[in-house]
Amino acid sequence: MNDRQFEALHEAVRAEPVEFDGLHAAYDPDSGDEESAYRLATPDGEWADLSESEFRERAESNPWYVSNWYFWERHLDGRSPARRAFLRRLEAADHHTVEERYEALSGGAEAVGESDATGAEPAGMVTEWGQLRIVATLGADGTRLYHLRHHADADAPLTDLDVHTDPLDARRLTKFDDRGRYRPLKTAPSLPTGWAFTDLRAGDLLSAMDAIYPATVENWYREEAGDLDVTHWSETAERQTGIYGIIDELDREGVEWIAESCCVDSQCLKRREWQFAEGDELSADGGTGVFPCREPCSLVVAAARKWTTLEREEEREYTFHLTPSEKEQIEEIVDSVAEGEVDDIREADVYEGANRYRARFLRAKRMDDHGNLGGVPTEPDDHEEHHEDEHADHEDDEDDHDAGDDHGEDDHDAGDDHDEGDDAHETHDADASDDQ
Ligand code: SF4
Repeated sequence: MNDRQFEALHEAVRAEPVEFDGLHAAYDPDSGDEESAYRLATPDGEWADLSESEFRERAESNPWYVSNWYFWERHLDGRSPARRAFLRRLEAADHHTVEERYEALSGGAEAVGESDATGAEPAGMVTEWGQLRIVATLGADGTRLYHLRHHADADAPLTDLDVHTDPLDARRLTKFDDRGRYRPLKTAPSLPTGWAFTDLRAGDLLSAMDAIYPATVENWYREEAGDLDVTHWSETAERQTGIYGIIDELDREGVEWIAESCCVDSQCLKRREWQFAEGDELSADGGTGVFPCREPCSLVVAAARKWTTLEREEEREYTFHLTPSEKEQIEEIVDSVAEGEVDDIREADVYEGANRYRARFLRAKRMDDHGNLGGVPTEPDDHEEHHEDEHADHEDDEDDHDAGDDHGEDDHDAGDDHDEGDDAHETHDADASDDQ
C-alpha cells in the first residue's frame, strides 16, 4: 500500500462506506467525535472507534486489502464489466480471499517482481484461453502484471522467445501460422509459437487479446451473464444479400456438413452455439472451447456460397477401375487433406496414401493427359465443351477465392471491435453493394 492508495481510500470512505473483497471501511460523520469516527475490518480483525491516524495505522497493517481495493476500484475504474470480469477470472477472485490471491500471484512464498529478461515464465496464476497462456502476477503496491504466450511455449525460457511489451505487436505476430500461412480465421488452432509479451498492464493485456482473439472476452462474459444473443444459421442465411444471397438454398444436411467441416475443435477454438434454427439443433460437434461462437462467421458464409453452387449439381454414375489399394489411397488422400496432414508426410513415407510419390504414381497410372481419373471425362458426351466449362469454372473459383481472401482480410482488420460473426455482416453488405 502506498500513500496515494491510502488517500484514495480515505477520500472514498468519507463519502460512503467501502465494502470490497473482504475490506470494510466506514466513517460516521454523525458520531460527533472525529477521534472515533472511523471503522475498519478485514477477515483478520475488526477495529472500531478509530481516529484518522488510527485508521491509517490499521490500513497500513492490512496493506493487501487496501491495494487490492485500489487496483479494482480506482486503477481499473471505467473498464467494461466484461473486461473487469475477465481480469477477475484470471485470479479466481470470486473463489479466493485477497490473502490467498496475493500469495498465488506472487508465486507462493517467493515474491515475483517484474520478469527478468533471461528467466523462464514468472510464477503466478495461470489461465489458458484458446491457445493462449496468461500468467497473472503481482507488481509493486498491488498492481497486476500479465504475461502472455502460446501455451505450447509454457516451459520455454524467455531467451528462446521473441519478447514484446507493445500490445500492438500482437496483430502482426499472429497473422501467419508457424508455416508462414495466412490465418483467415483468428480462432483457428494455428496460433504461431515463439513469442511472449511480458509485464503487461491490464489494459495492454486486453488490447493484445483483442488482436489475437477478437471479442472472445465480451462473448464469454455475455454467456456467463446469460445474455449471449445467438443468431442461428437460417436467420444468417436469410439476411444475406448480393453474391451471398444464395446460401439459404443449402439444405439442413449441407449445414450439418459445414458445421462438421469448419466448426469442430480441430478447426476452430470457438464453441459453436448457433444451430440450424432456434430449437433445431445440429448434430455436428460444437466443440469445447471456453469462448462461444454466436453466429456463423464470414469464413463459413463465404465457404457456404461455394458449397451452395456445388450442391446444385445432380449426382452421376461414373465407372472407374481401381485396385483395392488405389481406392483406399484416394480415401487416404481426402482424409489427409481434410485433416491438414499433407505437409507432415515426408517424401520417404511411401506407406502413406497421401505421400507425394504415391500420389504421383497414381496420377501417372490412372489419369489421362486431361487429368481425368481412369480416362473417364467428367462430361462424357462433349469433351471439348467440358474443357470450356472447366475453364469457366476455374475463373469462377478464382472469383470465389478472391471473395474468401477479402473476408479474411476484413476479419483481420476489423478485429478490435467485432467478432467473426459481426464482421460477416459488414463484409457481406459491403460485397453486396459492390456487386450491384
Ligand atoms: S462459425 Fe464460429 S465456430 Fe464456426 S468456424 Fe466460424 S468462428 Fe469458428
